[in-house]
Amino acid sequence: MTAPDPTIWGDETPTVEQLLNWVRDRVVSPSDPKTTARSVSELRDAAGRTITPEGIGGAEAMRIFTDILAPATRAQDDPLNLAYIPAAPTRAAVAFDAVTSAANIFGGYWETGAGAIFAENEALAWLISLLQWPASAEGVFVSGGTAGNLSALHAARFAASEMRGGRPAGGWKLALTQDAHASNVSAAHVLDVDVVFVPEDERSHMRGPALREVLTQHPEVFAVVASAGSTNIGAIDNLDEIADVCAEFDVWLHVDGAYGGATLASPKYRSLLSGVERANSFIVDPHKWLFAPYDSCALLYRDASVARQAHSQRAAYLDLVDHEAPNPADLAIHLSRRVRGLPFWFSLATHGTQRYARAVESAIETAKEVAQRIDQTDYLDLLVAPELSILIFQRKGWSDEQYHAWSKKTAVDGVILCVPTKYRGETVLRLAFVNPATRADDVMRALETLR
Ligand SMILES: *Cc1c(COP(=O)(O)O)cnc(C)c1O
Repeated sequence: MTAPDPTIWGDETPTVEQLLNWVRDRVVSPSDPKTTARSVSELRDAAGRTITPEGIGGAEAMRIFTDILAPATRAQDDPLNLAYIPAAPTRAAVAFDAVTSAANIFGGYWETGAGAIFAENEALAWLISLLQWPASAEGVFVSGGTAGNLSALHAARFAASEMRGGRPAGGWKLALTQDAHASNVSAAHVLDVDVVFVPEDERSHMRGPALREVLTQHPEVFAVVASAGSTNIGAIDNLDEIADVCAEFDVWLHVDGAYGGATLASPKYRSLLSGVERANSFIVDPHKWLFAPYDSCALLYRDASVARQAHSQRAAYLDLVDHEAPNPADLAIHLSRRVRGLPFWFSLATHGTQRYARAVESAIETAKEVAQRIDQTDYLDLLVAPELSILIFQRKGWSDEQYHAWSKKTAVDGVILCVPTKYRGETVLRLAFVNPATRADDVMRALETLR
């Protein structure tokens, strides 16, 4: 070890020790489900002024963080946090996230981050093999599904423009369903392209015939977004049928598996994503169901050469960069980047792929068991059984206000985090399972409060 550098703003070694101790405790302790957001004014009153001409010192800033700021954040990894899509990072991944931060690697270019990028690519190669794509496929870790979808769709539009000799007179269009994640519509806005909605079947899936009709009517469609697990109900579009139609029309197929793409890890459930082998691009968020901490999205391209052309930044000050090298910066909308795939890589390397398969399967099985038990109660109605690990149900006879009041109270009490959503125009409750530590018995006990 080299001695601490005395020139970098003083010797803060005592504070560094304190921070590392906090990290050590946090990694091995369960999080507190009662922590919750507070208003800006409450936080301002409690924290006081933190940015001052002289500085408040590391010890005081850390006290404010541990006593006031951290408790005003939600425990994403609590086993009874079943709202939105929660998180369940392994201890190995969380601890290695701290290592990744300390290493402070510039992960944009191979020449600055080679060793770390090599490891990220090992994790991506595992996903590529699960997709059953050619080994020549490539990818990059970006901040989240939103950045991943936008980057993939930019590459898709670039490819269409090359292939079809520029922008069609009426502008480009993106085809997706109403149930596709909002980030795809947002990407369409950023790209300034129109959206065409493909009508879904009665179980909220995109199917081939409906897509064929849309592509026949709208030759300006440059890409189709299919969901491998929709966020609201976990519905998987019919990827086989969609891949057939995309091949027929020579249109880019992007599969949004931010949540459900993790199913690839399970040999038992992999066939649910059949057809994904023929996609042009794919995303999955390790921070959702692949047991990594925020923030991490794996973005993969079957043929990255077009993505490289679309994304590579060129300038005089980047002239020395070797653009023949596998540079992560060249595959998405970013330049500087942390090597955010490393915590996922470390956890995967530590635990092995079989452990990942079991962990994914356990969330699916817990969801199915809870669904069955909800169905057996006399006070709850199961509306959508889990296709993956998300289910929708109702409390018989309740109003919107009752749902909202219940959800708020159980969250504050740390009993369960379960928030109302809308399904077919009605207020319903939704549970999303990703955490292998979630037990069906505990969920059912928490749902007793709905009686
Ligand atoms: C969560 C989610 C996204 C957005 O991902 P972020 O990481 O939150 O940006 C996109 N698509 C689907 C299907 C998702 O579930």
